[in-house]
Amino acid sequence: MNANIWELAKGQLEKKVGTHNFTNWIEPIELSDVQNRTAFFSVPTNFMANWLNRNFADAILAQLKEVDDSIARLDFQVFSQKPKASVQKFETESDADVAKEINDTPAVKQPAPKKSTRRDEKLPGAPLDKRFTFDNFVVGKPNELAHAAAKRVGEGGVVTFNPLFLYGGVGLGKTHLMHAIAHELQTSSPNLRVVYLSAEQFMYRFVQALRDKQMIDFKQIFRSVDVLMVDDVQFIAGKDSTQEEFFHTFNALVDQGKQIIISADRAPGEIQGLEERIKSRLQCGLVVDLHPTDYELRLGVLQTKADNYREQYPELAFADGVLEFLAHRISSNVRVLEGALMRLFAYASLVGREITLDLTQECLADILKASDRKVTVEEIQRKVSEHFSIRLSDMIGPKRARTIARPRQMAMYLSKQLTSRSLPEIGRRFGGRDHTTVMHGVRKIEELIVSDSQISEDVEMLRRALEA
Ligand code: ADP
Ligand code: MG
Repeated sequence: MNANIWELAKGQLEKKVGTHNFTNWIEPIELSDVQNRTAFFSVPTNFMANWLNRNFADAILAQLKEVDDSIARLDFQVFSQKPKASVQKFETESDADVAKEINDTPAVKQPAPKKSTRRDEKLPGAPLDKRFTFDNFVVGKPNELAHAAAKRVGEGGVVTFNPLFLYGGVGLGKTHLMHAIAHELQTSSPNLRVVYLSAEQFMYRFVQALRDKQMIDFKQIFRSVDVLMVDDVQFIAGKDSTQEEFFHTFNALVDQGKQIIISADRAPGEIQGLEERIKSRLQCGLVVDLHPTDYELRLGVLQTKADNYREQYPELAFADGVLEFLAHRISSNVRVLEGALMRLFAYASLVGREITLDLTQECLADILKASDRKVTVEEIQRKVSEHFSIRLSDMIGPKRARTIARPRQMAMYLSKQLTSRSLPEIGRRFGGRDHTTVMHGVRKIEELIVSDSQISEDVEMLRRALEA
């Protein structure tokens, strides 16, 4: 009978709390009895009883009522010899009580780890990428503040802001900066216990510790680190029990004056499903964002990476303007930029050709298309006409006077650079001109950019205006 009630309720609970929570928290418990309108559950540990009470009791009760509306209360009992350990719903416990209960938890029978071995014990962090150092990090306007803050933390010493919270979009260097801090600290202070891990790994370890009844170890290890870095913390939003544990770890470390560094894809206040008290703790330190890259930063990154490649493959040559082209055309995400360059070098070394603009466009067609800024030939024509105060109709008309022809060539050049249109396609949009005419125009502007500073300024200005 009880088993049936529970089976029926469970089926619905999975949908309510999500598969992950369900597997970790609901699945392992059993409905042992229903008496005096109270549903008694047996659970393996006090810790778990508390957790269920805090996070899932409402959902469980609601679901049980659906099946049997005489049920009014829940009671989670630890299936050990200690009947008094049962935790009743609607009781409030302080964190000290939780801690006490964790320590009381009968299930944790492992011998206490010896204090002396603590230092040598394997830390729970993830491995660091050797390439993610401060030396390899290109600094520009969009990331200079984040870089400066990371540098400061990397120097170690007195904790000035805690936590350091880095946020920004994908591929802008958050993980790179965190690893760089870790490298720096490990070199300058090898005795520091520096732990870097993603929020996902934190959750994984937490759940594993619960399952294996190693929560005491888990807590002790995380509370014994000197510098804790948790990457992509937005991941734990909505994961209530992991948030709770993270919050306690966080507080314990801050209270001890230990440095914490957090990253996320957005500002603390904007992470939905993150508890308010966690948000406000995260905002207590220094919050800095990494802005989307600008042209100069992208070019800087490309030049640095290209130099690295050329050190390895001195025979690789590439035409002027290729890196500039990529910096203009590829999205703000540095990871995509790196991937593009890597592919280009691999391709060039395979076919043994110099890297030209044509080769670049051929090899990276898909990436270029995906990050196309959607500038159209028509927009280019309009902007260029305005800039030179000529009529749009003249841009595509037959007039050959230089005052018209030069702007037209410039528009062709910009169309080639800023859109993924082919030469014949561009020609068609310029009043049905032949692709050789377009090519001639593009070449002419390429020459003039080098020899005529007025032209190169005009081109640069128009390009910026079009990309804005
Ligand atoms: P995030 O964690 O913000 O998503 P990553 O730190 O993983 O981004 O960076 C993505 C890739 O781009 C990495 O290979 C990283 O080395 C590189 N990268 C990002 N920003 C820079 C930079 N300013 N200078 C050099 N490389 C960078
Ligand atoms: Mg990252």
